[in-house]
Amino acid sequence: MSSKRFERHNIAKLAGYVPGEQPFDAPVIKLNTNESPYPTSPKVQDAIANFAIEGLRRYPQPTADRFRATAASVHQVARENVIATRGGDELLRLLLTTFVDPGACVGMTDPTYSLYPILTAIQDALVTSIPLEADWSLPHDFSSVITAHQCQLTFIVNPHAPSGRLIDQETLRMLASEIDGILVIDEAYVDFVSDEAHDLTQLAVNSDNIVLLRTLSKGYGLAGLRVGYGIGPEHLIEPMLHKTRDSYNLDAISQQLAEVALADQAYAKSVWERVRLSRTDLCRDLQALGLQVFASESNFLLATVPPECPLSAKALYEGLKARHILVRYFSHDRLQDKLRITVGTDQENAHLRHHLAALMQSGSVSTPT
Ligand SMILES: *Cc1c(COP(=O)(O)O)cnc(C)c1O
Repeated sequence: MSSKRFERHNIAKLAGYVPGEQPFDAPVIKLNTNESPYPTSPKVQDAIANFAIEGLRRYPQPTADRFRATAASVHQVARENVIATRGGDELLRLLLTTFVDPGACVGMTDPTYSLYPILTAIQDALVTSIPLEADWSLPHDFSSVITAHQCQLTFIVNPHAPSGRLIDQETLRMLASEIDGILVIDEAYVDFVSDEAHDLTQLAVNSDNIVLLRTLSKGYGLAGLRVGYGIGPEHLIEPMLHKTRDSYNLDAISQQLAEVALADQAYAKSVWERVRLSRTDLCRDLQALGLQVFASESNFLLATVPPECPLSAKALYEGLKARHILVRYFSHDRLQDKLRITVGTDQENAHLRHHLAALMQSGSVSTPT
């Protein structure tokens, strides 16, 4: 490889995002990237079967109007309050390129979704990282630090990843009113919140500075399709929708399938309820094994391996992997004694519990013969 470098300085020094492992051949129990353990609505299968390929001759509808109208009706907002994006991740990138100047600060908690600092560095902006309290709540001086750094944009994941902790609506409303920049509330996991009254959409669309991120990757079993959307007041949605977005960011197939999946709220809600029930069971089972589990409002659990366990969290992660069960391990200093485990089907969760128990008892990661 030539030693001559052509990338911008901020790109050259950037380490890329490291996604969770995605094995494509070996049969594994995959509890590492918070995908749904259940397929998406069967109506999506019908829509694929009946998709008229004749339509692919043409460019797709540029602003995904039908999908946006469906999302608007699901959330009882106007279509102008919604932008459809290539996964929630594209929305994150659009927010940064539209609202953050190179050299400006972007606020976030620590730990948080590890893509935020990377996208911030690509925009050549600076990360203002604010450590969460020991119980994963926001520190009391959060908004004053954001204000002192004049953050043009702040990311909050709610429910939080990787802890699953939920910040209440009033705290977020206060936070948004205390800061000058945009507050992005990343609701990738909000579908799994137990309290049905938790709903920030009206707060967001009536605010000056709140944008919500939603995705079909987690709650709708469509991580492979790559569709997400943003909800916010029109003055924040409009510049992304009409200026910074790629002209045809969502292909015709994605637009149609995502619309069908989102419209089938009854099916989606039954899946979320199933996951919540399994979450309760899995939490209890992990606690019975001696792990400390933080109460989660999401589709994953963050489990702490106690110091008296003969195997470290990392060794357990590796031992499970040798047994074809993938969970997520983070080397982050506050997470290295923990495992993040996606709630699977009851059968997958039982397998996990069985192998975890065997590993913790044997104190060795060697594969069973
Ligand atoms: C999964 C996830 C997203 C969005 O993912 P997409 O697949 O791009 O929609 C955003 N934020 C967090 C915290 C996530 O876990």
